[in-house]
Amino acid sequence: MVLQDKQALVTGASRGIGRAITEGFLLEGAEVWGLGTREPSDLDAWIARTGGKLHWICADLASLDSVEPIIQDQLKAADGFDILVNNAGITKDNLAFRMSLADFQKVLDVNLTAAFLIARTVARDMIRRKSGSIINISSVVGIHGNGGQINYAASKAGLIGLTKSLAQETASRGIRVNAVAPGFIDSDMTRAMPAGAKERMLDHIPLKRPGTPEEVAQAVLFFASDASGYITGQVLAVDGGMFC
Ligand code: NAD
Repeated sequence: MVLQDKQALVTGASRGIGRAITEGFLLEGAEVWGLGTREPSDLDAWIARTGGKLHWICADLASLDSVEPIIQDQLKAADGFDILVNNAGITKDNLAFRMSLADFQKVLDVNLTAAFLIARTVARDMIRRKSGSIINISSVVGIHGNGGQINYAASKAGLIGLTKSLAQETASRGIRVNAVAPGFIDSDMTRAMPAGAKERMLDHIPLKRPGTPEEVAQAVLFFASDASGYITGQVLAVDGGMFC
């Protein structure tokens, strides 16, 4: 139980990668505050299965004005978090010349600006506690770019800059900040892709299959635990060798 007695906040916890991270943390003994726009349909059963170690926060991270007050309230209720995972993310794909400003801005708001507001609020409290681990879920697209995803790629590249900068600002206070960059992972987000695009993607993956949310969760668990105690400001790709 590598996260025994730890308290974690995971955004976008209702499904996909965020849910796998939440499950992984609970299995390792953590108490988890999951955040999502709405409650998962099986929330009561999920909480019962964890013996009450899962809590739920309903919040829309697109409403930027409410992000800091909500997180501050939760910080008080939980008496601080040892681990933060900024996982919530959206796509609104289009070619650059066809993309509306609203779609560009919305993806930046949810994927990057909300993550900044949450990280800043939680990190302030971690400084008081002199320890903490923050993990941002970026994407290989944030490192290499992707035609048709200029907003998403910019947001994920921004998260990498945020990760490295915050790592530098908080390391002396005992806080570590790292990023995980998944490649092509089987989730609701990628299930919505056209079949042809999926096949082209698989052609570029040496391991010849999509990753699972659980495989991303293992990398997040590594950064959350003391196993990575001397690592900060890093980006770990979980991409089946897509860019090796
Ligand atoms: P998903 O669409 O299955 O889940 C996204 C989660 O974010 C959901 O729980 C959703 O409710 C939450 N969310 C979305 N908008 C929100 C908002 N406004 N407020 C609060 N919560 C909100 O996606 P996923 O595949 O599980 O992706 C999780 C993270 O991993 C995202 O940041 C995504 O960009 C990143 N990622 C995914 C892949 C992939 O192949 N699936 C690859 C690289 C990176």
